[in-house]
Amino acid sequence: MIASVLPTYNRAPLRFTHGEGCWLTDTEGTRYLDLVAGIAVNALGHAHPALVQVLGEQARRLWHVSNLYRIPEQEALADRLVAETFADTVFFTNSGTEAAELAIKMIRKHWHEKGEERPVILTFEGAFHGRSTGAIAAAGSEKMVKGFGPLMPGFRQLAWGDHDGLRDLMAKGEVAAVMIEPVQGEGGIRVLPDACLKGLRDLCDETGALLVLDEVQCGMGRTGRLFAHEWAGIVPDIMMVAKGIGGGFPLGAVLATQAAAAGMTAGTHGSTYGGNPLGCAVGLKVLETLTAPGFFEDLRRRAGSLRQAAEGLVASHPEVFEEVRGTGLMLGLKCRLPAGDVVQAGYDAHVLTVPAAENVVRLLPALTISEAEIAEAMARLDRAARAVAQAASGSAA
Ligand SMILES: *Cc1c(COP(=O)(O)O)cnc(C)c1O
Repeated sequence: MIASVLPTYNRAPLRFTHGEGCWLTDTEGTRYLDLVAGIAVNALGHAHPALVQVLGEQARRLWHVSNLYRIPEQEALADRLVAETFADTVFFTNSGTEAAELAIKMIRKHWHEKGEERPVILTFEGAFHGRSTGAIAAAGSEKMVKGFGPLMPGFRQLAWGDHDGLRDLMAKGEVAAVMIEPVQGEGGIRVLPDACLKGLRDLCDETGALLVLDEVQCGMGRTGRLFAHEWAGIVPDIMMVAKGIGGGFPLGAVLATQAAAAGMTAGTHGSTYGGNPLGCAVGLKVLETLTAPGFFEDLRRRAGSLRQAAEGLVASHPEVFEEVRGTGLMLGLKCRLPAGDVVQAGYDAHVLTVPAAENVVRLLPALTISEAEIAEAMARLDRAARAVAQAASGSAA
C-alpha cells in the first residue's frame, strides 16, 4: 500500500524535533551537527533568536492579506533588495521553482514586447531550476524529465564549458536568454569561473540576450558575498532567489532590471501567498543580518577554515575522497567511494551532509557556523570517512 506521504523521497530514518544554530536533536535526544541547513535554507541556523522574535511579533500582528492590497513588509524587503543589488524591481514567490517559472515568463514577455522572435532559452547540462514542468524542461536532465513529456518547448541545453557551441548558438540571434547557476548546487557544486560569467555577460550584451542567474542555492551570502555573481563584477538582467532568503520561512523572489521586466504589467502574473507579511518580515531580518557591517568578512574567515579543514580531510582519506570543490560555505567533497555511503556514515557519526550529482557530498552549513563547530564537523566527518574506508576494504578482502 502506498504511504500516506507520497513516496517521492528516499528518506533517512531520522526524525528531528528541534534545532538550535547548527544543531538538530532527534526524537531519541541525540544531537546532530547539521551541515545541510535544510539544503542552504536555514541561512542563520535553526531558531535564530532575531528571526524567532520577528516571526512571533509579525504572527501576532498579521499573517496574510493578499496582494490585492499594499503590503508594507513586502515593500520594505523589496526596497532593501533593490538597494543592495542590481535590481530595480522584485516579485516575491514561495519557492525557487516559482521564481524560475516567473523568470521564464518574464523572458518571453520581454521579447514579445520588443516584437522580436527569440524562441530559445539556453541552459546548461547539470543545471537545476526546480521541479515544475517549466523548470524540468529548462534543465532537461534525463533523470527529471523521464516520463513527464511532452515537455514545454523553447529550451536548449549546452554542455558545461562548451564555449564554441555557445558562441555558435548565440550568433544565430534566436537566444532570448541564458539561464545559469553561478555555482551549480544539485549538479555537484560546480563553480562557474568568474571569467566565464564575464564572458557570458559580454556575449549577452553583444547579442541582446538576457542574462538570467539562478542564485537560489548559491545566493544569500553562501559564497561570502550577498550574491555569487558579485565576485565576477558583473550584473544579471534577471535573478532567481529562494532557499536562504527566508532563513527557513518559505520565500523566494525574482529580481530584475526595469528593462528586463518591461511588459510585466498588472494582471500578467500573480501569487496568492507570495510576498505575505509573515515571510517578508522574516526575510527583511535575514537580509539585515547578512548585510550588517563585518558579517561577510567574518563569514569569509570561517569559510577559509572550513575549506582548509576539508582539504585536510580529503588529504587524509585519499581512498574515500578525490577533491574539494566549491566556494564560501558551499563546498563539495568529490568522492571515490559512493557519496551516499559517506552521507550514511555521517549519520552514524551524527553529522548531516547531503549528496549531489557527480558523486559529491555537499557541505552547506548555516552561515553562522562557528570555528569550534567547523572543527567538530571535521572530526565527525573524519570518523565517517574512516568507517566508509574500513567497510570498503573489508568487502574487498
Ligand atoms: C533548490 C533550487 C531550486 C528550486 O527551489 P525550490 O524552492 O525547491 O522550488 C531552483 N534552483 C536552484 C539552483 C536550486 O538549488
